[in-house]
Amino acid sequence: MGKYDILIVGGSTTGCWFAERMAKEGCKVLVIEKELPEDVSRSYDIFHMGEGEMIQFGLDIPEEGVQPREFRFGSSNMISPYGTYYKKGADSPVIGLHKHDYIMLMAEKAKNSGAEFIYGAEFTDFVYDASGKIAGAKYKTADGEQVAYAKLVADCSGIPSVARRKLPDTSPVCNFKITPKDIFYVVLYYVKYLDENVKPREYDGFFMQYKAWSAPAGEGYDAILGIGGSYSYEYSEEVFNTQFMKNVKYPEYEVKKIEKGMTPYHRSVYSFVDDGFIVMGDAACLTKPTCGEGCTSSLVQAEIAVDVISTLLKEKLPLTKENMWSINKRYMKAQGKDFDSLRPLLMGVVTLDFDEAEYMFANDIVFSEALFGAMDGNNLILKGKDIANWLTQIASGVAKKKIRMSSIKNLVKGLAQSMEIGMLYDQYPELPEDFAKWKAKADKKWEEIGSLSETCDPEILKKLGIS
Ligand SMILES: Cc1cc2nc3c(=O)[nH]c(=O)nc-3n(C[C@H](O)[C@H](O)[C@H](O)COP(=O)(O)OP(=O)(O)OC[C@H]3O[C@@H](n4cnc5c(N)ncnc54)[C@H](O)[C@@H]3O)c2cc1C
Repeated sequence: MGKYDILIVGGSTTGCWFAERMAKEGCKVLVIEKELPEDVSRSYDIFHMGEGEMIQFGLDIPEEGVQPREFRFGSSNMISPYGTYYKKGADSPVIGLHKHDYIMLMAEKAKNSGAEFIYGAEFTDFVYDASGKIAGAKYKTADGEQVAYAKLVADCSGIPSVARRKLPDTSPVCNFKITPKDIFYVVLYYVKYLDENVKPREYDGFFMQYKAWSAPAGEGYDAILGIGGSYSYEYSEEVFNTQFMKNVKYPEYEVKKIEKGMTPYHRSVYSFVDDGFIVMGDAACLTKPTCGEGCTSSLVQAEIAVDVISTLLKEKLPLTKENMWSINKRYMKAQGKDFDSLRPLLMGVVTLDFDEAEYMFANDIVFSEALFGAMDGNNLILKGKDIANWLTQIASGVAKKKIRMSSIKNLVKGLAQSMEIGMLYDQYPELPEDFAKWKAKADKKWEEIGSLSETCDPEILKKLGIS
């Protein structure tokens, strides 16, 4: 039975980074991780992070040729549904790494800063003090049930959100389950092209209409062909085989390896904090709305949390929701508003059918280098001049019967809802006492918006018996 300042549940990217930072601030930190060290984060191998983001968050960038670094590549393209038009994205280099090995390095760094790790330790429940406030956690190891006391429990357990889900309905932190509708089921095909004259990097890019991409895969493979979809891996595979591979002409390839993994696709929780509690990373749904990546986007909130929590601890103030509330407000301003207001607009965009999107790529409507090249991280910078231009071209597309009126309605609806979410998040309450009123408005808006799963192909859902 130990006593800590911070008890972190989950020792993957978010948990390790937060552990290192809090330990560096002089806090006594314990990380409990369900898996044994050799089994942590094994569902997929290669992942990437923007080089600029790695520098921003002080993440080590291994030298070229030094493991777990695998490769570095530049900007990526946005590609039209039939693979005809390539629009170049912003030039922001990305580092490809082996995930398990990189997490083990992060854990080592955290340990060197003073954090303790217990592997094979599964969170089972909170422990509470005499007044009913969270005071630590119970966890199960091979030696039976253990207890650790802490001023703060940080849930970094990913999609299962094991601690967040134990909170009562009265908590400002939503205790919802991340269901198959709100998960992006990712299938990665590691391929080798049959013709060795093929230049794999010429095919790299993102196909928004299928939520599919081609990217470097590292030693031994030519590319990763990836696809993500709601509900199940079968859904993603069906879109890949019956739509993506049918419409996009790829050089012939052999699949060498297949990996599967899940990432949340859901608005972030509204409040990250409660008395003695914070939720972070995938458990708080902090993944990028454009691609579902979450390793660095989670750190935007984690960095704010380190600042607020370490200051409170230094001033010997309790880690109550009132004292930590500024984490919510600052995160919404720093990233939450941009991420969550983009979601309804993207939903409008992915409802365009393949022919409509192809027409828009051909005519630089929305799908233009001016837009993708100017993308700041994940934030679309929309200029009034561009919007006016697109509206004129869209009207012309409708007149030529290249774009359906129903698609225009979806786009306009998405744009309007994006703006409404943006305005609502600008009014995020300064204090917890004003939260209930704001939450009621936000719940109503998100109910109207719905989820990305509603843009799934109804024929495929029917074929797979998904209702
Ligand atoms: C196929 C695929 C490819 C991806 N590629 C990228 C990419 O290139 N770049 C990027 O930024 N993101 C990528 N992502 C998203 C990224 O994996 C996640 O956003 C990121 O891993 C979230 O980190 P996390 O620490 O919050 O949660 P997780 O990585 O999910 O870690 C949670 C940890 O908590 C532990 N845990 C769970 N339950 C308990 C319990 N009861 N007790 C104790 N411990 C527990 C788990 O074992 C795990 O180690 C990808 C996702 C997928 C599926």
